[in-house]
Amino acid sequence: MPRERSGASRPPSGSVKIPPVRVGIGYDSHRFTSRRPLILGGVLVPGAPGLEGHSDADAICHALTDAILGAAGLGDIGEMFPDNDSANKDRDSIQMLEAAVRSLSATGYDVGQVDVTVIAEVPRLGPHRQAIRERLAAALGIDSERVSVKGKTNEGMGWIGRNEGLACIAVATLNRKR
Ligand SMILES: [Zn+2]
Repeated sequence: MPRERSGASRPPSGSVKIPPVRVGIGYDSHRFTSRRPLILGGVLVPGAPGLEGHSDADAICHALTDAILGAAGLGDIGEMFPDNDSANKDRDSIQMLEAAVRSLSATGYDVGQVDVTVIAEVPRLGPHRQAIRERLAAALGIDSERVSVKGKTNEGMGWIGRNEGLACIAVATLNRKR
């Protein structure tokens, strides 16, 4: 059933003030599997198991894609890339992020900045942070200065603490084009 969509994709009406900035949040989580390499933000990250999923299970790209679609009022990643579609099997999730950015073209907004937090006991993201920022920046079409990537542990608590998988939270702002 098609979901109600609101906001940026509609033409502005005279009485409605168009906000200069919109904000969206995205969340994603995946279970670890030893059968795949770990890909985060389009970057191969050694030192931890990979992630189970229909696509390449890149949790950073998925959370960020949802943050951008959410900010634009354009639905979510599951609508854009159904996981029962064989075309999306093992798909490079950077392509999903790029598609979300392309979908903004009709809305009158551009990506402003993004901020990502990965919550995992392993791997340590520090050594890979800059590479991930640059890969995401290229996909988003913005400078890497406007891409923030942070990592933290869950202090050993719960499913993340037991190393069953990892989670990612992302926030994106969209700026109205002048
Ligand atoms: Zn995902």
